[in-house]
Amino acid sequence: LKEMIIQNIKRIKKDCNKAIIVAVTKNRSIPEIIEAVESGVKVIAENRIQEAENKYSILKDLLKEKKVSFHFIGHLQSNKAKKAVEMFDVIQSVDSLKLANIVNKRAREINKVQEIFLQINIGREKQKYGLYPEQVFKIVDEIRGLSNLNLTGLMCIPPYSETPEYSRIYFKEMKNIFDKINSLKYLSMGMTNDYKVAIEEGSNMIRIGRGIFEG
Ligand SMILES: *Cc1c(COP(=O)(O)O)cnc(C)c1O
Repeated sequence: LKEMIIQNIKRIKKDCNKAIIVAVTKNRSIPEIIEAVESGVKVIAENRIQEAENKYSILKDLLKEKKVSFHFIGHLQSNKAKKAVEMFDVIQSVDSLKLANIVNKRAREINKVQEIFLQINIGREKQKYGLYPEQVFKIVDEIRGLSNLNLTGLMCIPPYSETPEYSRIYFKEMKNIFDKINSLKYLSMGMTNDYKVAIEEGSNMIRIGRGIFEG
């Protein structure tokens, strides 16, 4: 298992031009996550609060010791914001001003400045969460006024396709938005299927699940 994870990471690193590799650990067991951390992964991400909480209680000390940061990439319900702020170094999936305000409030209550990204619904899919591109700039301005939030990036999940090339136009549009907003550091786009295209279009953070944990 560990040898496979090491080989997978090595291969991805070669393709990824210094982008940060986020290991997506949803549905992965504790031993699998430990193997990934011991193989040098520096960021792991979960998409459900309950599952994250169970794992965090076990992995907390290891993550600290290995300086691994813990990201949230799923839809965050308001009533889970408190737990999210307690656990995660970065919440990549802030998808409304309302949620931003709640996360800000929860962060203030524990004296934390919470790092967040905005999730963009770049394919304008009805069933997906995220801001529409034209909403982003106004929300960015409003978030700058919330003192317990530190907005550092954008994240997207393009429409699903077997063909990585189909993601390219969405990644291009994300890069345009990213470049128009000053002072953002991270553009989180690209998953197992399409990370190479994402990198070509300017991604500097890829989120990989199957590509790391499956052979
Ligand atoms: C599951 C998931 C990923 C990783 O997907 P893979 O295809 O396994 O690489 C990335 N981002 C988000 C938001 C996810 O939910």
